[in-house]
Amino acid sequence: MTSAHGTSAYEGYRHRHLLGIEGLTATEILFLLDLSDGYVAVNRSEDKKKDLLDGRTVINLFFESSTRTRTSFELAAKRLGADVINMSVAWSSIKKGETLIDTAMTLNAMHPDVLVVRHPDSGAVQLLSEKMNCAVINGGDGSHEHPTQALLDALTIRRRLGTIEGLQIAICGDIAHSRVARSNIHLLTTLGARVRLIAPPTLMPSSIERMGVETFTDMRKGLAGCDIVMMLRLQTERMQGSYVPSTREYFHFFGLDHEKLQAAKPNALIMHPGPMNRGVEIDSALADDIHRSVIREQVEMGVAVRMACLETLNHNLHLARSQQEQAAQ
Ligand code: ASP
Repeated sequence: MTSAHGTSAYEGYRHRHLLGIEGLTATEILFLLDLSDGYVAVNRSEDKKKDLLDGRTVINLFFESSTRTRTSFELAAKRLGADVINMSVAWSSIKKGETLIDTAMTLNAMHPDVLVVRHPDSGAVQLLSEKMNCAVINGGDGSHEHPTQALLDALTIRRRLGTIEGLQIAICGDIAHSRVARSNIHLLTTLGARVRLIAPPTLMPSSIERMGVETFTDMRKGLAGCDIVMMLRLQTERMQGSYVPSTREYFHFFGLDHEKLQAAKPNALIMHPGPMNRGVEIDSALADDIHRSVIREQVEMGVAVRMACLETLNHNLHLARSQQEQAAQ
């Protein structure tokens, strides 16, 4: 089978699920990025509809609120011709484990082909994937991983700067609670970038240097000579207690403004996974500065990346199923 973009096959990514970036090889990541690149052109053309997922069912199962990720997956699946069901589940901490397995059993009975899951607990998506007969994509689990975010960030960078290898990339802010940071660290270091983390000591996980990154508690020092400045949202919903004295003080020391940005390379690009707290993590005018900010491009790349992931996992699932059928005959 050939892909929509003429690449010979899906050998580049053989896994049944996409649960995280950790453990993926550079070849696997590049395969998904190359496939995504083709979808950027499809999404910019007038006729965006493909029939690769005709007759397939994609379920978006969100235990945590989300606007952009859920919409992005929904659009991606619909553009490939799939039927899409959106399920939002309020997650009470009393229920947990049992309910998750029950949910898996219920969904299995509906025979979906791909399940996209977002969950507030790290590891919950992996647990679900072990109980499901379909392909599972992690749409963000706790502070663990958000693989499609890292892929869309990488695609944005690669399309702007041509490569990831050798770049100096700063990830700034609430590292401790950020699945975006974790997935990005895995991806960017695997592709040969040098990653710096900048955060107040309360939001910097201990021993994170083991992931192959440098750490800084001073924005100007950390940003010096960087090609990319990736800002993170303060994830107050995951904080128990107070990690920063006040949002005003946080902006003063760690918010990105024109003055601090001067420490980075003259044309350094600014990124943010959204949703942004303007005036807390980033100066509002800077976030909208079309010469520096690629935040809107990130959203655009998100749809393309999710189309590539859906296409690949759908292919792998049906290949595995037909091989099983042949073996049973
Ligand atoms: N949208 C990203 C996530 O789901 C980042 C954020 O929420 O701050 O992790």
